[in-house]
Amino acid sequence: MMIDFELSPRIKGTKNMIHMFAESALRPIAREYDTNEHKKPQDLLKMVQKVMGGGISGAFGTEEKKKEGEEPKEKKRRETNLAGGVTVEEIFWGDAGLALSFPGPGLGGAAVQASGTPEQKEKFLARFAGEEPVWGAMAITEAEAGSDTANIRTTAVLDGDEYILNGEKIFVTSGKSALVESQGFVVVWATLDRKAGRAGIKPFVVEHGTPGMEVTKIEDKLGIRCSDTVSLAFMDCRVPKENLLGNPEVVDKSKTEGFKKVMATFDATRPLVAAMAIGVGSAALDLLKKTLAEEGVEIRYGISPCRMTALERDIMKMDADLKAARLLTWRALWMLDNGQRNDLQSSMAKAKAGSAVTWITQKAVEIMGPLGYSQDLLLEKWMRDSKINDIFEGTGQIQLLVTARRLLGFSREQLK
Ligand SMILES: Cc1cc2nc3c(=O)[nH]c(=O)nc-3n(C[C@H](O)[C@H](O)[C@H](O)COP(=O)(O)OP(=O)(O)OC[C@H]3O[C@@H](n4cnc5c(N)ncnc54)[C@H](O)[C@@H]3O)c2cc1C
Repeated sequence: MMIDFELSPRIKGTKNMIHMFAESALRPIAREYDTNEHKKPQDLLKMVQKVMGGGISGAFGTEEKKKEGEEPKEKKRRETNLAGGVTVEEIFWGDAGLALSFPGPGLGGAAVQASGTPEQKEKFLARFAGEEPVWGAMAITEAEAGSDTANIRTTAVLDGDEYILNGEKIFVTSGKSALVESQGFVVVWATLDRKAGRAGIKPFVVEHGTPGMEVTKIEDKLGIRCSDTVSLAFMDCRVPKENLLGNPEVVDKSKTEGFKKVMATFDATRPLVAAMAIGVGSAALDLLKKTLAEEGVEIRYGISPCRMTALERDIMKMDADLKAARLLTWRALWMLDNGQRNDLQSSMAKAKAGSAVTWITQKAVEIMGPLGYSQDLLLEKWMRDSKINDIFEGTGQIQLLVTARRLLGFSREQLK
């Protein structure tokens, strides 16, 4: 199948509409919800639930739905994930913190999509289509298990028709929104057998109101301050047997199919994190170019590098980095839409976009001088908001490691 990056009229239309929404509804309140970290834009969240039917994160890993009676059209463009990426970029251009606070299935929903049975998808995802905002979350990280997910210590023990979970998770995005403020759920990664390593690790859906689960800490953060990030404790927390996503068998260490399926969650979400980064980077670059134009500073594209000013070189590198990140991201999403393995491309997109946005926002603050550092503009906020893209869902270093392994044909054990 030919790869084609001319956006379809449908995506272009959505992109323009979302851009207008981001500019008119998010930008004007971005500073307020950055300053008042734990305050939520309740009216906006309700409106997002109504209009977007589960928020932007509803796009995370979703499958294109056929209308009733519609015949599958071979030639029809498959672009649900690409459309999701373009939408995410535009919303994050508006504001990253607000965007991350939007209701929707989020990472938890993506895990259900990647590992759940058709019945589990039906049961756990239906709730996001209602009138009231609902959040999904995913809890992998622990004090001793961040990049090294195989070191997870939260345990799950089968007892009759239930699993009993014990352990503590940290840095769970939307954990409070999912479990305390809505009828949502968190997908918790726990081990059935530590000796089995990765093969023993399984995802469990823990629903709102389940006894034995508690929000123990709400983080104060550098950036994306409107998004809630929490620690969760599980103390003899019982979940129904059917809430284990996928195959409950702990298979031989060499056959970690179940774990691979869980990791496939990231093939869908890493390009979306890359799109988030590109949105923030574009916001900074747009503002910088607009300010320079207002000051009468011309950027002479197409001139020889030996005649460029340092400023022109910086702006062109910013442009090139953003475009490279965007192309990598669209390729990863296109592959996902077309049923192709995209783990390498997802990691490449996230590595590039995460480092690009961190550099671009810092450079923009630098070029703007004291004004860039001042809270009069949102630039300093975008600099703070950008760094998370190089941390969550696998740090930049881990993406480079995954990329190197795949390109060089090394196993996890051969290249650590
Ligand atoms: C705001 C926020 C939201 C988050 N949301 C979620 C969430 O919703 N769910 C969730 O489960 N987690 C979440 N996280 C956690 C996040 O995914 C982890 O912080 C991240 O995976 C890194 O793990 P760590 O913090 O333990 O760092 P570590 O793994 O301890 O790494 C520390 C440093 O060492 C580097 N490093 C580690 N191993 C290697 C290696 N082999 N080679 C080279 N460098 C290496 C890392 O890149 C990093 O720079 C969130 C974190 C933050 C800050």
